[in-house]
Amino acid sequence: MLDQTFSGGVVIANPYPVEQVKIIQAPLPNQVVLPLQQRIGAEAKPCVEVGDRVLTGQVIAKTQDQFCVPIHASISGTVMAIDKQIIPHKSGLKSTCIRIESDGQDEWVETKGCGSDFLHCDRQTLIDYVQRSGIVGLGGAGFPSHTKLNKATGCHTLIINGTECEPGVMCDDALMQHHPREVIRGVEILLHITGAKRAIIAIEDDKQEAYQSLLMFNHNDLISLAQLPTKYTSGAEKLLIKALLDIEIPSGGFAADKGILCQNVSSTKAIFDAVIDQRPLVSRIVTITGDALTPVNVEARLGTSFEHIISLTDVNQQAHDYRMGGMMMGIDIENTQMPICKITNCIFVNNRKPKQLAKECIRCNTCNTVCPIGLLPQQLYWHAKGENIEKCMDYHLFDCIECACCSYVCPSHIDLAGYFSFAKALHKKQATDQHKTDIARDRFEFREYRLERNKQERAQMMAEKKQALKDKMAKDKEQGQVQKDKIAQAMARVNKIKEKDA
Ligand code: SF4
Ligand code: SF4
Repeated sequence: MLDQTFSGGVVIANPYPVEQVKIIQAPLPNQVVLPLQQRIGAEAKPCVEVGDRVLTGQVIAKTQDQFCVPIHASISGTVMAIDKQIIPHKSGLKSTCIRIESDGQDEWVETKGCGSDFLHCDRQTLIDYVQRSGIVGLGGAGFPSHTKLNKATGCHTLIINGTECEPGVMCDDALMQHHPREVIRGVEILLHITGAKRAIIAIEDDKQEAYQSLLMFNHNDLISLAQLPTKYTSGAEKLLIKALLDIEIPSGGFAADKGILCQNVSSTKAIFDAVIDQRPLVSRIVTITGDALTPVNVEARLGTSFEHIISLTDVNQQAHDYRMGGMMMGIDIENTQMPICKITNCIFVNNRKPKQLAKECIRCNTCNTVCPIGLLPQQLYWHAKGENIEKCMDYHLFDCIECACCSYVCPSHIDLAGYFSFAKALHKKQATDQHKTDIARDRFEFREYRLERNKQERAQMMAEKKQALKDKMAKDKEQGQVQKDKIAQAMARVNKIKEKDA
């Protein structure tokens, strides 16, 4: 096991452990709802219409945006609607979705991967398989895998992130225990694509079964397994790199800049499915946990409602609070009708309890000691609370990964990470407002300048006209005098002749 790790972070045991980490296959849902807006990039455009019959794995929406992946039907059936539905997002807003009603057949579209001999395929062909199969980071980030792979030129080390991102989440643990062969083959595919010289699969030391399963299936000298102390936030990319390789990725920098590529272990298994079978990503493992039920991992089709998945558990009949994502970085939700998406790794179902009210900061400094990024959350908090964004920036607000370690240890129950999220949003709003003000000021100043320039041009034109008139008059006068002189001279000559004749 590695003894070096990063400073800060918090050690939290899984609050709802189970004896055996199993995966339950969810029965086919009656309907699925698939959002057209992915985590990043432009909204996909539907390529089916209401009333169309679709097959499982069929592309139903796509976009030209290089950051996006196509959207596949996760069941076979009929497109019933393309309309706004609530999606799993902290905004609670609705977004355009395609709703498919199941025909109960689960009839798959015909797919063909490159088979187990992927070594004969070139890098770009394999990346295209990954993109066409709709694979994104399944650890919660949702960043498209093909984009990462395209950028991974000069990659020397591949890190496969099997450290569960948060306490209580078990979906990656379950995947490693139940699909070790696919994970190892997925890593070999990634080694072939990136040309990396080594791959490290990182696993926390409380996941011995997963570790042993992978160890048993790993016969590749380029792949090693590393056990990390179970500490939150080991799963954060930059911290994982620091813990494994003792390499610091500077603020604003990327792992790729240092020749490192990180992939989530579930995404790695999905890459295996994409390349070997060209099987698109239509399902994922979701942990359902909390004190209202016995925790389970459910493999569910994307688009299945939270409600449907929760109903498969032994959930009690009390009033519940729901949280999507982990207990630290997740978000509280009211509605359980929303669909499972590619980034839905966990749903917490807890018996409803009175909320802890925040008290005054007692300046105990505890939050400052746990920040894994080395920030000063207490100072940041005061400035965020006072909406002094300039000061927040002095304290490196945007380096905060909102891991909530500081909130977790705060004895006054202050939602520090919430304040930082708010401060970031306020900064963005102020920046947008400032940008609009700058544009309006620039327009006003340009108008003033244009009016002044027109005025000066008009004045100059008038002056030039006046001068031209003056010059003309002077010239006319001069020519008139010449004429007069000529006439006088002619008269003088005539008079002289007359005098001679007389
Ligand atoms: S939420 Fe931000 S400030 Fe708080 S511990 Fe995490 S990184 Fe540090
Ligand atoms: S842990 Fe809470 S109470 Fe202590 S200094 Fe930080 S914000 Fe204040």
